[in-house]
Amino acid sequence: MDPIRKQELLRKDRQHVWHPFTQMKDYAELDPILIERAEGVYLYDADGNSYYDTNSSWWVNLHGHSHPRIKMAIARQLELMDHVMFSGLTHPSGIELAEQLVQITPPGLDKVFYSDNGSTAVEVALKMSFQYWQQSGRESKTKFVFVENSYHGDTLGAVSVGGVGAYHSVFRPLLFSAYSVPSPNVGTWPDTSEQGAHACVAHCLAAVRQRLESSAGEIAALIIEPMVQAAGGMIIYPAAYLQGLRELCTQYEVHLIADEVATGFGRTGRMFACDHAAITPDFMCLSKGITAGVMPLAATLCTTAVFDAFYDDYETLKTFTHGHSFTGNPIATATALASLSIFEDEPVMAQVEESAAYLREQMQTFGAFTHVDNIRSLGMIAAFDLFADKASKQRYDFTERIGFRAYQAGLQEGLFLRPLGDTLYYWLPLCTTPKQIKDIIERTHRVLHKLNM
Ligand code: PMP
Repeated sequence: MDPIRKQELLRKDRQHVWHPFTQMKDYAELDPILIERAEGVYLYDADGNSYYDTNSSWWVNLHGHSHPRIKMAIARQLELMDHVMFSGLTHPSGIELAEQLVQITPPGLDKVFYSDNGSTAVEVALKMSFQYWQQSGRESKTKFVFVENSYHGDTLGAVSVGGVGAYHSVFRPLLFSAYSVPSPNVGTWPDTSEQGAHACVAHCLAAVRQRLESSAGEIAALIIEPMVQAAGGMIIYPAAYLQGLRELCTQYEVHLIADEVATGFGRTGRMFACDHAAITPDFMCLSKGITAGVMPLAATLCTTAVFDAFYDDYETLKTFTHGHSFTGNPIATATALASLSIFEDEPVMAQVEESAAYLREQMQTFGAFTHVDNIRSLGMIAAFDLFADKASKQRYDFTERIGFRAYQAGLQEGLFLRPLGDTLYYWLPLCTTPKQIKDIIERTHRVLHKLNM
């Protein structure tokens, strides 16, 4: 791009744009990267530099950017129809996608309610669960349980069941009350062996049991990020915790909401993270990867038992009175169908298996760094934490902004490596090959050497 145009755009960005999750003062020191083009696992900036998209453009991209089949599906759909209302009207790709989602998600999830982003998928599940109990003669079941460190989105209902102080505490006075239970954070449990992980899971499940035993009569649902608490610090936990939650929720008649917004569609090495535990939740929230990360779309799946509580002969207050202008947008649903056809026709999950095994093995190389610990991975997700002192697990002072410095150094190495505090992580597109993973890891080594890690 012409350098004058680039500078002009960046000036206008600073003047008019307020970016999400961003301390805008940072842009005074470091311009945002002006991205012009994206292809495969790479982003290209206005100067022609390339960067590995190591977080899949905020955990959404699956098959690489600009995938020809996705582009073609969008163009074809656009020829036919751009957008129509999804109430009273329906359309082929919306119907076919619902059918396929029911087929690929755990058995028992039979109904699909569309919305537009991960937060609304969660809002829908919370509201449906609440209303279900209201019209099932259990009006006292109005509260929710969430897990510490969890993140379910930025709308107020989702924030009410969020457990990350840095994102959520300022809004506390606006939120509905909810119970929290401890996070199954096996990485910070005093004993990090497999036995320790069992003990951590048992401890956390005992806390859930205690909560449900004393309050199940007032609890509508428990919401969980299956297998990975992502924004709360890339906490990866054992499947036994999920299995335990399913059993407890069934025993105490509390809905289980699985928020698969981030983990769905292959990222954890299985199509859905719930598959690691072979469980069916009462609600499953999907977004991000649903369209291979190309169009905004979300879906909340639920059981027939939930659906039936809203079904009536004539219009009564049993209707689920919720919807958004762009619900079931045909371009988005056609994109999602194209993504699912790629899973069907290409060996996507076999490649994930190979790449994930290589990633897991290569992550161990970070153990040699003096300030790196708590190395973990699941499927195409991998992370480690930076410590001022590894032996005593002492974190860096907040003001050192060590994660941000790693991010800056990453850009010099052609990596878009956005940290979560002092946690560096990869959330790789499913199509990332072992060769590319090797390159990403070597570049990250160089970043850590630069920071004297
Ligand atoms: N749930 C989870 C588990 C998420 O990770 C996110 C987003 N990072 C959301 C919900 C919210 O999704 P969105 O940003 O599309 O609203």
